[in-house]
Amino acid sequence: MQITEIKVDGYEKVVRCQDVKSGLYALLAIHDTTLGPALGGIRMWPYASDDEALFDILQHSRAMTLKTALAEAGFGGGKSVILASPKRDKNAALLEAMGEFIESQGGRYISAEDINIGLADLEVVRRKTCWVTGVPASGRGPNHAARYTAEGCVVGLRAVAEEIDGKMSLNGRKIVLQGVGAVGGQLAVLLQQEGAEVTICDTDEARQRELEERHGLAVVDDAHHLDVECDIYMPCARGACLNDETIPKLKCRAVAGCANRQLLEPRHGQLLRDRGIHYAPDYVMNAGSVINAGAELSGETSELDIRARLVRIYNNIKKVFEVSRHLDIPTNEAAERLALERIAAGPNHAEPTSGGEPESACHL
Ligand code: NAD
Repeated sequence: MQITEIKVDGYEKVVRCQDVKSGLYALLAIHDTTLGPALGGIRMWPYASDDEALFDILQHSRAMTLKTALAEAGFGGGKSVILASPKRDKNAALLEAMGEFIESQGGRYISAEDINIGLADLEVVRRKTCWVTGVPASGRGPNHAARYTAEGCVVGLRAVAEEIDGKMSLNGRKIVLQGVGAVGGQLAVLLQQEGAEVTICDTDEARQRELEERHGLAVVDDAHHLDVECDIYMPCARGACLNDETIPKLKCRAVAGCANRQLLEPRHGQLLRDRGIHYAPDYVMNAGSVINAGAELSGETSELDIRARLVRIYNNIKKVFEVSRHLDIPTNEAAERLALERIAAGPNHAEPTSGGEPESACHL
């Protein structure tokens, strides 16, 4: 296995791995470990070029630094990618080699699920490294990351509701939710239990129908979902969904979903603001899974304790709106400012058992 370093300004470490025996070709970025080891998913994707893959890990690892800092999860930001076709190339030898590559970073990078790398794959990676999170070692079931992301969104939504009209209750709120997958599906049901009037849409008709039949949720065709007037629009499917085309069409008072990188460009945060729409930045809303990972790292697996930590999402959304008002800046800028302040303040903010150098003992 050959591991070579790529120098990138502003990043602690970027490395490339080539392993002739297994066929592994992978890149890994550690953006910042001021607050703890760099957490980030392993993605498997048939990138057209090294540059494309590098762009992805640089963007994502930096975003993870901001997200974990605000969530006070005791992590920094990282990301890795396996440059290969998931259908054709995924096998045990390749995933084990990825485990060895991660192990070679000595705990400075902690891996998790991502596109085309699921829990079963992580179990194989874990044969060669303990620096894996999200694997259901705690017996909390296979979908606990998505569950805590969904629960965290409900917590954050109370702050969004308060921003709309001063009332925290979600009862009677009209919500349109796009994307009822692992997170969105659970979220729709949780919100219905809170008394919200939830309308869902998804390009996967079978999944949409399943939720409609099982829970009586209202359904709208995905192509027309932006025509539905609502209090809160929740993008829970894909990124770049808030852009020049969609923002003028929005008929809501707030946008607050779990999908990553919802703004096509940072300037779209200002565009939402110009329209008087309260935007809860995605990485603040969807921090439930990293808060859960932080709890796992510190050896805490009690559901009560993790739920108590999700209150951070409510506090952060409140703070983001407050800073946005006070400084007259869009909420995406306010969130970034707050995250950078937490990093500058150092590891005191983070989970008590981590921060700075990784511990030599492996908890995961
Ligand atoms: P998922 O793949 O389980 O669900 C996504 C759903 O969106 C699917 O049902 C899919 O059919 C639907 N979809 C895709 N494109 C669509 C479109 N154009 N219109 C309507 N529906 C569409 O994914 P997930 O784990 O639920 O994650 C959803 C989003 O939240 C992603 O952006 C993910 O990065 C982000 N996120 C997830 C977690 C987590 O814990 N799973 C944590 C943080 C952020």
